[in-house]
Amino acid sequence: MCRHLAWLGAPRSVSSLVLDPPAGLLHQSYAPRRQKRGVVNADGWGVGFHDADGAVRRWRSARPLWGDASFASLAPVLASGSVLAAVRSATVGMPMDESAAAPFTDGAWLLSHNGRVDRSALPASRDAESTCDSAQLAAHVFDRGADHVVDTVREVARRDPDAYLNLLLTDGQRVLGLTWGDELSYLVEPDGVVVASEPWDDDPRWTDVPDHHLIEVTRGVDGPARITVTDLES
Ligand code: GLN
Repeated sequence: MCRHLAWLGAPRSVSSLVLDPPAGLLHQSYAPRRQKRGVVNADGWGVGFHDADGAVRRWRSARPLWGDASFASLAPVLASGSVLAAVRSATVGMPMDESAAAPFTDGAWLLSHNGRVDRSALPASRDAESTCDSAQLAAHVFDRGADHVVDTVREVARRDPDAYLNLLLTDGQRVLGLTWGDELSYLVEPDGVVVASEPWDDDPRWTDVPDHHLIEVTRGVDGPARITVTDLES
């Protein structure tokens, strides 16, 4: 399963979010600390963010994150207040090109999937960016609307009870994180909130989001972000 991360807050550089933290996504691409399935995340990576005009920008690759010197060179000058990034461990049988790497996008939304799902449990979508299960799932979530993501995931899980359906979404104003077969952690910083598959360092302020929960982070108008965590089983 992959590792992913979302940032919502004041603008931060992509390198400070993805490359610099001691146990962050770069480190997780070769030595994740909490990954239950899969050993490394070497099958590509992707970073999506909203620019100053709110437009979605993406940089994805089919190569390991640790080998991308061009990205490492430019990441310090890419900055945004809403970033979604992922490193990929491909599910057997899935395509290996960059179009299969998260985040996927539709309008203002960016989405990353950590897990696997039987594609026959998903309606065929002509808008999917790839035949990869995660891209098909993203297209289905987008078709149904991001606000209905919990119902959509419940339905997909009914059709494929073995599916892992961990999702991170952002439209620049909100982050939605869904745990379904894995966990998330979040850290409240003075300038924003990061939600990630696993903590990027040993800061004791990291809080775990257990399996089968929804975390929603909403951008504060003039103050701190609002965070709600909902148990999806109660
Ligand atoms: N199933 C997706 C893929 O093949 C995601 C895999 C993952 O979470 N490791 O890319």
